[in-house]
Amino acid sequence: MKLYLIDHNFRYAVEQMLLTLFPEERPEYPAEPAAEGEDYARIVLSERDGYRIATSRMRRDGQITADYASVPMSSFTDSLVKNSKLSQIVKLSFYRAALAAGVKKPVWGALTGVRPGKLMEKLLREGKGVPEALRVFREEYDVTPERTGLCLKTAYATLRAAETLGEKDVCLYVGIPFCPTRCGYCSFVSQSVEKSMALIEPFFEALLKELHAEAEAIRAAGLNVVSLYMGGGTPTTLSAEQLDAFFTALEAEIDCSHLREITVEAGRPDTITLEKLRVLRAHNVGRISVNPQTMSDRVLECIGRRHTAEDIRSALALVRQAGGFTVNMDLIAGLPGDDVETFKKTIDQVLTLAPENITVHTLSKKRGSSISEAEAPLPDGVAVGQMLDYAAQELPDFGYEPYYLYRQKFMSGGFENVGWTKPGSESLYNICIMEELCSILAIGGGASTKLVASGGRIQRSFCPKYPKEYIEKIDELCQKKQEIVDWYREEES
Ligand code: SF4
Repeated sequence: MKLYLIDHNFRYAVEQMLLTLFPEERPEYPAEPAAEGEDYARIVLSERDGYRIATSRMRRDGQITADYASVPMSSFTDSLVKNSKLSQIVKLSFYRAALAAGVKKPVWGALTGVRPGKLMEKLLREGKGVPEALRVFREEYDVTPERTGLCLKTAYATLRAAETLGEKDVCLYVGIPFCPTRCGYCSFVSQSVEKSMALIEPFFEALLKELHAEAEAIRAAGLNVVSLYMGGGTPTTLSAEQLDAFFTALEAEIDCSHLREITVEAGRPDTITLEKLRVLRAHNVGRISVNPQTMSDRVLECIGRRHTAEDIRSALALVRQAGGFTVNMDLIAGLPGDDVETFKKTIDQVLTLAPENITVHTLSKKRGSSISEAEAPLPDGVAVGQMLDYAAQELPDFGYEPYYLYRQKFMSGGFENVGWTKPGSESLYNICIMEELCSILAIGGGASTKLVASGGRIQRSFCPKYPKEYIEKIDELCQKKQEIVDWYREEES
């Protein structure tokens, strides 16, 4: 869409709204006016009688609409607040003009961004009280009552988790970028074992080297690892011996007395064996993810998972036989070939398996996944909404509560991913990473470290996604661990 920003430069705000309301459109900033009949949006920021006013005029499919939003200048307590409020009215005016043009109201209204819970937590932390927080969501952001309620519950879970964390508490992520085969909807640069078997051993050696360097930095900075999460990829692609060697090294390198949980993703049932599960239990791994995504064999085939729903049941039976695991199961609403009735059956079947956690994702059509490339037929936004509504209606009846949520770009219908849990089985790591409660240190392929300071300062660094590149750069990666120590020294000074 052609965009004309007049007397301001809140490009990011406008583009976020554009992406939310018109996901197929890309922003253009032409110097010349839009031609006769061309779609455009003109967003003006002006000032009158002590108010700043954002006015959006939009032409879409020949129809012209306009609307505005305003804010009193007396509310600008500092430049940060001023910028945030101006950005908000720019978004709102664009949002209102789009709705006037007939765009369907998104469930999250004019609230953009990956972490809607942050706003709720901020309002609660500021002592605004629940009624005022709900009013802001409803009136200022036009969020539906269902999403507002969801957000309130997850915000409480975040605040409870935050109270348990000390300043030096961190999580550690370990990335294993291998999978048995590549799923059709996956944009993660996971190397399928079929193609890269020879890289697993040198990758593993490099990983142990990085673990050693990371542990030195953790000790030097005086940090406590409270949660460890091994993800990927599919970590259980590693052999039982490799898993044993990794966790043995971890126990030798890191003070595990602060560790409150260890999670290993065993997403693909074709990688789960009793031997591996016993190794994990022996090393105090207490949480495991077995991910069907769907319990429909037809949909599994559509997404190239190369396993059946029965394989999931068998894998889960092995996990229960090994004993002692909190189990998470990931599902995705909006997969190609799926429909509302089939998704409902998936939910019903997963509920009979009674995992402690169920994570209900919405398909995000990312670049790099063969689904977006092939334009496979996907359920529309209305159907995805009905799938999520069914999950939100059934899961509480079976004793699950929402405890974290986040959104992604290019999600079907602009919805969200929600982690549901039986009381007391929450994953601390999931809350910490989604709500940025503490630093996430990370090692391994495609792993991203995020150092989080109490004042909101954030510094990110990344490990290469491709195993070959990771192996080649391992010495450089190890040297960079000093950045963690420097960051915490600076924090303390
Ligand atoms: S198992 Fe997960 S990471 Fe691996 S290819 Fe499938 S979706 Fe991607």
